[in-house]
Amino acid sequence: MWPFRRSSAFDVRSSQPYWLLRDGMGDAGPALPGPLDCDVAIVGAGITGALIADALVATGLRVLVLDQREPALGSTAASTALLQYENDTHLTDLAQMLGAERATLAYRACVRSFTLLEERFPELLAESDYQRRESVYLAADEKAVDALRTEVAARRAIGIHVDWLDEAELRRLHGCRRPCAIVSPLAATLDPLRFTRGVLSACVRHGVRVYSRARVERIEELADALLLHVAGGANVRAGHVVVAAGYESMRFAPPVADIDNTFALVTDPLADTRRAAALPQIWESARPYLYLRGTRDGRVMLGGADVPFKNAMTREALLPRQVRKLAAAYEDLFGEKLPPIAHAWAGSFATTPDGLPFIGRVPGWNPRLQFALCYGGNGITFAVHAGDIVRAGIEGREHPLEPVFGFGRSETVRRGEQGGAGKPTAAVES
Ligand SMILES: Cc1cc2nc3c(=O)[nH]c(=O)nc-3n(C[C@H](O)[C@H](O)[C@H](O)COP(=O)(O)OP(=O)(O)OC[C@H]3O[C@@H](n4cnc5c(N)ncnc54)[C@H](O)[C@@H]3O)c2cc1C
Repeated sequence: MWPFRRSSAFDVRSSQPYWLLRDGMGDAGPALPGPLDCDVAIVGAGITGALIADALVATGLRVLVLDQREPALGSTAASTALLQYENDTHLTDLAQMLGAERATLAYRACVRSFTLLEERFPELLAESDYQRRESVYLAADEKAVDALRTEVAARRAIGIHVDWLDEAELRRLHGCRRPCAIVSPLAATLDPLRFTRGVLSACVRHGVRVYSRARVERIEELADALLLHVAGGANVRAGHVVVAAGYESMRFAPPVADIDNTFALVTDPLADTRRAAALPQIWESARPYLYLRGTRDGRVMLGGADVPFKNAMTREALLPRQVRKLAAAYEDLFGEKLPPIAHAWAGSFATTPDGLPFIGRVPGWNPRLQFALCYGGNGITFAVHAGDIVRAGIEGREHPLEPVFGFGRSETVRRGEQGGAGKPTAAVES
């Protein structure tokens, strides 16, 4: 028998990711009461949409958030929620792709994400198990050592504090059996579901309207606004629209990303719960990579074994096999068996060629429409900047991060423009 109940969330993740089990469904949010009018409509109430709504609260604009599920139950509920400034693309590689100046800009922006987040949400982060942790980036094998040495030098050259661990120190401090690692003091973990719900609740208290079970099927261009066609017929007229619909945004957006599946698990609490609570984030130079963190209650959370996306059914069918791979990878890394697995799940996510997000307007498209495609392993760190970039777009200002997080940088996007792919006025199939 098929083990997973088909749920409305099934397309992006398993029906029972860890955070949902831990924090529960919560009360259902209000449904769209009928046709509405607003200044800004945000499509998607995941962590990205929530942070954008928060950034717009201060503008006095009438902001409305629509989600086809309940808030935060898309990919955000499946995330292992490692917050890193380090990109899936090394600084050195990014400099090759975008030039040194833009690569530096992108890395420094991600470094800044931590302060921005901590200054904006000090209490909510504490309630959401936010914890600063070191990040330990392992050389997967001897062949990776030179690239990591170059990477350390490049990061130090732009003022990022990193340390180097050789094989013996790495084994002594963290128990990892790898040739060396880059250690960054700047990284963190949190409970993404609790945090996102908290951000949205605060937004609602400040007048933002959040509606659940409101699936946007099509975006129509009007003379002086955009019209969101919502399943069920209660349409929303908006001065500006921000699509922050996770990887499901790709129905509306230019073709800038590939979709993969990733697999994750949590163990039972370790005998020494403090060991897991103090674990750094650990990940590696292999692609796809293994990633792990501890939880506050003493579990190890492990993810990786990514495969290209085919469909949700295949993803779930692969779960047992990929979980065995994760357990084997843990054993290979630490030379000890993975503690008993409490729960495992899978989710889909999108990656871009340079590992950076696409946020803001699309050149040549309707300027009332913006996207916040916070893809890649740093989705949450990128999302911290999305609100500010979107706000600049609404106010008709250039944003300093446009050269690195904007659509203008991508050859793929430019090809999409010429071919007219996914124009906002086109009917989008549901
Ligand atoms: C297993 C796994 C592990 C991950 N680990 C990490 C990690 O450690 N660190 C990290 O930064 N990122 C990680 N990610 C990626 C992570 O999920 C994203 O960074 C982040 O949660 C995405 O948030 P989002 O708000 O952009 O998207 P989502 O959380 O998917 O939110 C989008 C919302 O839009 C809604 N929506 C979609 N289409 C429509 C529509 N047509 N109409 C109305 N609403 C719509 C959805 O219901 C959803 O709630 C991981 C992903 C997975 C699957």
